[in-house]
Parts: sequence; C-alpha cells; structure tokens
Amino acid sequence: MPEHEIRDTVILGSGCSGLTAAIYAARSNLKPLVLEGHEPGGQLSITTLVENFPGWPEGIQGPELIENMKKQATRFGAELRMGHLDGINLSEHPFQLKVGKEVIRTWTLIIASGASARWLNLPSEQALIGHGVSSCATCDGFFFSGKEIAVIGGGDSAMEEALFLTRFATKVTLINRSESFRASKIMLERAVAHPQIKFRSNTIVEEVLGVEEKEVKGLRLKNRKSGEEDTLEVSAMFLGIGHEPNAKAFTGLLDLDDDGYILTRDHVFTTLRGQVLQGVFACGDIQDRRYRQAITAAGSGCMAALEVERYLEEHGR
Ligand code: NAP
Repeated sequence: MPEHEIRDTVILGSGCSGLTAAIYAARSNLKPLVLEGHEPGGQLSITTLVENFPGWPEGIQGPELIENMKKQATRFGAELRMGHLDGINLSEHPFQLKVGKEVIRTWTLIIASGASARWLNLPSEQALIGHGVSSCATCDGFFFSGKEIAVIGGGDSAMEEALFLTRFATKVTLINRSESFRASKIMLERAVAHPQIKFRSNTIVEEVLGVEEKEVKGLRLKNRKSGEEDTLEVSAMFLGIGHEPNAKAFTGLLDLDDDGYILTRDHVFTTLRGQVLQGVFACGDIQDRRYRQAITAAGSGCMAALEVERYLEEHGR
C-alpha cells in the first residue's frame, strides 16, 4: 500500500474525548479519521442539559454540544465514519484496523471508546432515559430540586450519587438488590447517617412508571425475599450500578486493569506488559474511572492529540 494511503491518526470513538482529540489533530493538519462506534456521541448524547461545561453560562444540551464538536472537527478536516472494529493489529507499524471488509492503516491510534453506564435494561427504563432516568447525578441531579428520587445500586458509585443528590432532593431512596452492600465502610456509613437517605435492600425494580406521561412518576418494586410488591413515588431514578469500559477489543493487546479499563501512564500513554506501546494513546472514560466528566474527557483527548503530533514529529512524519 502506498505511504499516502496510511493515515497519520485514527480515533476510535466520537464522544467528548474523541472529538476533542479530532479537533486538535485536525487543526494540526493530520486529517484524522474518527470511527464512531455503537454509541455515537458517547454519554453526552444521551443526557439533556449540561450545565458544568465551561463556556456555556446557560448550559447546553448534551447532543448539541456533541454536534458542535463534530462540526468543529470536520471544519478543520476530520473525517467521521460509522464503523465497527472487527479486528486490530498493534504489533506492526503501521497499525491495522479491520472495519467490515476494509483494512485501515494508521501510524498512530487514539482510543476514546469510553465506558457505558450499566442499565437495568427494562423497557420502561430505556424509554425514560433523559426524562427522569439518568446514570449521571452530577449532570442531572439539579433538575430534581425539591423532589423525591431513587438511586439504584449498593456500591460506592450509588453511595456517592445518593449523597450528592441530597443537595437537591427532599428524599433519596437507595435501592439495593442484595442484602449486603459492596460500598466501602466509610461511604456506606456516611449514607446511612444522612437523614435524607432511606435504604431498601433485597429490592429490585420491576418497572419504571410514567412512560405514557414521558416523565418518571414512580417505581414498581419487588422484595426478593418476601416477594412483596409495592410502588415508590419518585420523580427520578439514578443508576449507580457501575460502568463497563468499552475496551474488550484490546484484551491481550494493551494492559487493562482488573475491571477492564485501559491502564495509562502519564495520562494518555498505553502500555503492554508494563512497557509503553509506541503510537497508541487512550483518553476519556476508557482510562478514567475516577472523574468521568465531559471536561476531563475533553482534556485528555487534547493531551492524546498533542502526543500524537509529538510522536509523528519525532518519527519524521
Ligand atoms: P460496584 O462496586 O461493582 O457496585 C455495583 C453495585 O451495583 C452493586 O451493589 C451491585 O449489586 C449493583 N448492581 C450491578 N448490576 C445490577 C443490576 N443489574 N441491578 C441492580 N443492581 C446491580 O460498582 P461501583 O459502585 O461503580 O464501583 C466501582 C469501583 O469504583 C469500586 O472499586 C469503587 O470503590 C470505586 N468507586 C469509588 C468511589 C469513591 O471512592 N468515591 C466512587 C465511585 C466508585 P450486587 O452487589 O448485588 O452485585
């Protein structure tokens, strides 16, 4: 294949980090190819108003923010394409990505395929995402000021969400499917001690009520031990049952942590068996289990693109 058909960089993922990387890479004239995965636009594309992204004093809708980033990236020459990664070879330069029947060759790779919130996968829950069902308390908690809400989960994420949501909600009911909690002792104690947080253990959500009204009206709950059912009136349901990093394709190719997140060194450098893997960078939620904010994802996307530029320059390309 002639050299000119080898890409300078390919970006996997079109969420906040991938698109920020695309803007930076495009402005450096690297003509990045962005492969949009199974959730184009990432988690921002399924939230509503984003009020904490700097520069938008009145807030901006998540999908609009993503659209703006896409426009900004394409204006400078980024190419966006839908595509599912069917195979990947990182052991040779240029790297090879198999997308359908096509093999794309690239000198560098930015992995920004994010993490997906875990959902209960109830049809009523899916129908009400963005209408009272949310996986992000920081993003959406504010909209339920003065209301009663439920948080699902029994780990640290759920405790953190419940504690955060007490700033807005009059009452937070934490619903845990098990008897015991996975949360750390300190987080659990803090939540238990909070007068606005009530606990329901051994309880599962059978249905989110309000699909016809297009807003959450309550939850139909079932006690797993007694089999008893009841309805909890709430205006919102927040999921705190964890995230899945979209990094399965990199198992064995890059170092991942125990939960499957890509391990990075100096923010965006990937490694294999503890050694930096030249030319492969990861940014955004696929390597961040701590902050998970749009602005931090954007920041690491910028870092990844700057490292790509540096790498290409150092290698005379
Ligand atoms: P986690 O510890 O794996 O807990 C997940 C929780 O969700 C468990 O209670 C689990 O219930 C429940 N769950 C999973 N799938 C469910 C389903 N389909 N329906 C109902 N419940 C379901 O996840 P996490 O809370 O996101 O924490 C992940 C890691 O990040 C942990 O190491 C945690 O310490 C860390 N973290 C730390 C902080 C902090 O320190 N501030 C904050 C957030 C996260 P079962 O127990 O029944 O499986």
